Amino acid sequence: AHLDRIAAVDGAVHAFLHVSADDALATARDVDARRAAGEDLAPLAGVPVAVKDVVVTRGMPTTAGSRILEGWVPPYDATIVERLRAAGMPILGKTNMDEFAMGSSTEHSAYGNTHNPWDLDRIPGGSGGGSAAAVAAYEAPLAIGTDTGGSIRQPGAVTGTVGVKPTYGGVSRYGLVALASSLDQAGPVTRTVLDSALLHEAIGGHDPRDATSLPDALPALVEAARAGRTGDLRGVRVGVVRELDGEGYQDGVRARFEESLDLLREAGAEVVEVSCPHFEYALAAYYLILPSEASSNLAKFDGMRFGLRVEPRDGVVTAERVMAATRGAGFGDEVKRRIILGTYALSAGYYDAYYGSAQKVRTLIQRDFAQAFERADVLVSPTAPTTAFRLGEKLDDPLAMYLNDVATIPANLAGVPGMSVPNGLADGLPVGFQVLAPARADDRLYRVGAALE
Ligand code: GLN
Repeated sequence: AHLDRIAAVDGAVHAFLHVSADDALATARDVDARRAAGEDLAPLAGVPVAVKDVVVTRGMPTTAGSRILEGWVPPYDATIVERLRAAGMPILGKTNMDEFAMGSSTEHSAYGNTHNPWDLDRIPGGSGGGSAAAVAAYEAPLAIGTDTGGSIRQPGAVTGTVGVKPTYGGVSRYGLVALASSLDQAGPVTRTVLDSALLHEAIGGHDPRDATSLPDALPALVEAARAGRTGDLRGVRVGVVRELDGEGYQDGVRARFEESLDLLREAGAEVVEVSCPHFEYALAAYYLILPSEASSNLAKFDGMRFGLRVEPRDGVVTAERVMAATRGAGFGDEVKRRIILGTYALSAGYYDAYYGSAQKVRTLIQRDFAQAFERADVLVSPTAPTTAFRLGEKLDDPLAMYLNDVATIPANLAGVPGMSVPNGLADGLPVGFQVLAPARADDRLYRVGAALE
């Protein structure tokens, strides 16, 4: 049914870069046979899933939305893909994204943009717009995204889907094409909070192949989502972050946020105001730390090891000239912009002023969170300042594009988990409500998020 749906609507939505119909059907048939034989199967066995194209998949192309990886078929599976396969989940294909996950609209994909199923003239968010659009358009019931600065949560908000960025280290990064290694986390994109909990439990937990993987077991996420569905939040302290309370956001976004705060109070939660004074500098710090790490991570795309290789036109072939020609042709403008920014921020003489200062701000933001979580069990804010904007509207203005991330970035800088839950509509378009919890307390997201559904 999902493959039929993809065939019917993906021409208009363009959520997928690759559809793996044969592979998905083979898995589905295998699961059917095992179920018929009475085998004890994982909770999501037989439920199809779409995977963002920044996650490596054996035997399926993986481009990270870039020309430089065109034609590359990875020889191995990411740990999370291995776990999806082990759970008997058919992989429908790979979803579109901003090149190397840089962006908030999926317009930086080298393979054309994705359309928001709610209004095809609008963006589906980014960088994981393909995963969110696939779920919103009923092409896939579940999808995997990655979130370095909001790329699961912001697409969730503007497509009316649930998106979760787990605690840093809670889900393996082995086999993700790295953007900024200290910020990246993979997580679920789904239509309900309970679905996210099921998918999060399927992919999460310790992985010895990821050096930053947490050794502890995941908290009981499905149980927390079930508890939240009773609608009882007595004893839960909810902190509204004053610096992200919706001021300056689109009117409808702010109104929906206020209404959800009322719902939380009605459910018995205690709503308090907290202040995180350094969040004001989060965006600036992020847009130094991210390009710095990205410039280093992307150095491996040299025209020799993976995908595209372009030889200089004059035929004078040296390693350095092949590298320059390949990177010149293979990277898009946004990627080049960030490589230049990052290389500059890391260079001798500027390192302390830019990268060093940004790392200090990061510590201050972590302290803000620690203090706020003394007064509240979860923190809340609107996920994004606006509903889905029109395709092309912010494409020529990188700064306007970066401002989408103001509410999502602090969680990545501090490594804490965050969720965006659908929060009604403003002018006919979806709005998102963000819940943040302390590191390792992802269960709190599911309890509060499920109560809001
Ligand atoms: N909009 C953010 C950026 O462009 C999101 C990145 C991400 O989460 N992958 O950096």
